[in-house]
Amino acid sequence: MNHDPREPFPAAQATENANPPEAAPAPAPGPAGGEEPAAVDPALARIRVVLVGTQHPGNIGSAARAMKTMGLSRLILAAPEKAPDRDSYALAAGADDVLAAAAIVPDLAAAVADCHFVLGCTARSRRIALEQFDPRQAAALCEARARAGGEVALVFGRERTGLENHELQLCHAAVHIPANPAYSSLNLAAAVQVLSYELRMASLAATAPASASAPAPSVAAAVVGDGGDRREPPASHAQMEGFFGQLGQALDAIDFHKGRTPEAAMHKLRRLFLRAQLDEREVRLLRGVLADVERTAMLLAAANKR
Ligand code: SAH
Repeated sequence: MNHDPREPFPAAQATENANPPEAAPAPAPGPAGGEEPAAVDPALARIRVVLVGTQHPGNIGSAARAMKTMGLSRLILAAPEKAPDRDSYALAAGADDVLAAAAIVPDLAAAVADCHFVLGCTARSRRIALEQFDPRQAAALCEARARAGGEVALVFGRERTGLENHELQLCHAAVHIPANPAYSSLNLAAAVQVLSYELRMASLAATAPASASAPAPSVAAAVVGDGGDRREPPASHAQMEGFFGQLGQALDAIDFHKGRTPEAAMHKLRRLFLRAQLDEREVRLLRGVLADVERTAMLLAAANKR
């Protein structure tokens, strides 16, 4: 359907499982399109929701609504099967602004290139060997990273098949909602709602007056750890990918894999370096080491030919 996503459809057509459009709350008075100014937490503004390969446009609208109710507004659609349409706008209810502002990008890497912390939400527990958090822990981590100035992404997969392994490989860690193990897959927008709610609770705890606020969760302290007084900015996703590319070349140059396929070792190394949450200076240092490794390997190869 050719439809400018910025031009909301006039009539909300409810689909089978659509919430009736009249369920949309009347916009509250206020200068920012119904949002009270105090509700906008700058940390939440640095957290984006990325939906990968979404199959049903209605779910995109429901996700936008779930986000807006919790004060989130940045939605990115990575290779959606269909662009937002009439169903999306019907289900977004009053969150048309979030939907209309949603960027469409070709893949997950493009959606998170400038991010410093990326979490992948998966319905399957322990599907791949990534560190795994529950939504409360994940929200504390995201909130802390965003409050420290980092760009953060929460990534959600396809309705039928979730996130592919290569997509989870791009994430620092996984988030699993500890649902009924015999029936653990939530509707996509319901999963977005759970995470958005936890982010809101983390934001409220962090911005509450000191006397009223609960102590910061220790998991947040752990992740910001030395980050609290770090002077160097954390490495972005794109910088880490550049590093991994060079690491792969350096390992080839020293024949590290010795005929084995490089994937298994690279997966483990990716996990290790992503867990370390490197800053930009550390990535430069490691890339300097790798450049010397490659140069030395070239010199040795040339000497052996003589
Ligand atoms: N059948 C798919 C589930 C897809 S549900 C599978 O087995 O992977 C669509 C998306 O919602 C998932 O990719 C995930 O991002 C999110 N989701 C659903 N249930 C979840 C859960 N229990 N924990 C975390 N994320 C969940």
